[in-house]
Amino acid sequence: TDITELLLSRIRDVADYPEPGVMFKDITPLLADPAAFAALTDALAEVARDTGATKVVGLEARGFILGAPVALRAGLGFIPVRKAGKLPGATLSQSYDLEYGSAEIEVHAEDLSAGDQVLVVDDVLATGGTAEASLELIRRAGAEVAGLAVLMELGFLGGRARLEPALAGAPLRAL
Ligand code: 5GP
Repeated sequence: TDITELLLSRIRDVADYPEPGVMFKDITPLLADPAAFAALTDALAEVARDTGATKVVGLEARGFILGAPVALRAGLGFIPVRKAGKLPGATLSQSYDLEYGSAEIEVHAEDLSAGDQVLVVDDVLATGGTAEASLELIRRAGAEVAGLAVLMELGFLGGRARLEPALAGAPLRAL
């Protein structure tokens, strides 16, 4: 479709970043184009409405850039999920495995509660490890997962299959 073409045309492939053999999808050209950024925001806000979300969670760091305008557009609150050690209040933490070592993400415990239907927003779904940990956090906070919405899914990494149990029927939308 037109919007897919527009969005794809504003994503830059950067070879060998952050390490040799990786083709990084750079979204900064898209962010720098107000028409493309607005189209992306509108499309993600539509997903928020379709899924019946009551809150938007953004994953640090590019999920903040995309998630915040989506939340505003959809008339919903924005909740940051941050890397460990960045949030000042009482947090829930979730660690997950990386190729080498592990990582940990956190959310303010008071930001999510029973009855919340949460849409998670991020830029790129790769292996699915980050998204999977965020879904776990949301459930542990007592909230429900309304869905996961990303700009781009790297299908060859198998993130969608990995996320199936954690999504438990909630939709995964990749624009
Ligand atoms: P995963 O946990 O799914 O392996 O990795 C997804 C996370 O890493 C996302 O938060 C995403 O921002 C980042 N990421 C991984 N690969 C890329 C990429 O090629 N481009 C961008 N923009 N982000 C990536």
